[in-house]
Amino acid sequence: MKIFAVFGNPVSHSISPRLHNAALGELGLSREALYTRYELMDGSQLISKFKELKLSGANVTVPHKEAALAQCDVADETAIKIGSVNTLVSRGGKIYGHNTDAPGFLGAIESFGQINSALVLGAGGTAKAVAYALKSRGVRVCVLNRSEERLVNFAEFEKFSWANFAEFKGGKFDLVVNTTSAGLKDENLPAPTELLRPIFDEAKFAFDVIYGKKTPFLNLAAASGLRHKDGLDMLLFQAALALNLFFDGTLDETKIENAMQKALRLG
Ligand code: NDP
Repeated sequence: MKIFAVFGNPVSHSISPRLHNAALGELGLSREALYTRYELMDGSQLISKFKELKLSGANVTVPHKEAALAQCDVADETAIKIGSVNTLVSRGGKIYGHNTDAPGFLGAIESFGQINSALVLGAGGTAKAVAYALKSRGVRVCVLNRSEERLVNFAEFEKFSWANFAEFKGGKFDLVVNTTSAGLKDENLPAPTELLRPIFDEAKFAFDVIYGKKTPFLNLAAASGLRHKDGLDMLLFQAALALNLFFDGTLDETKIENAMQKALRLG
């Protein structure tokens, strides 16, 4: 029996078990694998817990993604570049770390079509995954954050431009992405309206990593006539990619996505 889990704190709200178990069921694997959740307080215990629970694979969410990178035996190039791991896989006695947030984001924005330039709001872990993903597709990326401190995250990446609100000079961007938690539990915009409006007037698409709610960011994008999406597809695609990594890429990706879509609709 393969056992998988999601580690986080908090983790009780996570819908990953629902998505993964639904896909395992549809793929006829529910007799040989199951997926659960584990609330982990101390990130330094991540790999020891993984081993103690005899897991075959795990997902890692806030706030342990950096700890996962630090503790896995082998991290892939994307995870190293982004500085975080959201998927752990046990193979031949070693624990491998991957990041599926970046390709999950690319899958989610595919329906928008051609994007040449993007403004990424926020400078945390998710912003790094999103900015890295866009850059890998040749998109010109500017990172805009409320404060200066976290912009240091981007200093080691070449060819990103970045600014805080006070320094930002504006510009024309095809896509605007909210990677901040503004709007998650409040009604805040991720940046002042007077800064966002002119950007939205020139943009074509808006994407919010927050899901399951019409945030003020998405409402403003809709009012500005932009095509827009919340983060549900990103969640789904990163989960589908993770499940396939647990099985070394042997599963049918489309079947996983369809099963997870169905599980989301039922929820
Ligand atoms: P971090 O804590 O690493 O970064 C948070 C960022 O948000 C910082 O840049 C911070 O700015 C900014 N911020 C927070 N509040 C505000 C505000 N009121 N106004 C402007 N900026 C603000 O968070 P993560 O990157 O780990 O996560 C961000 C979001 O992404 C979460 O909501 C998470 O749920 C979501 N997420 C969604 C995924 C999906 O699959 N859909 C996958 C992963 C994450 P400052 O530096 O100034 O404090």
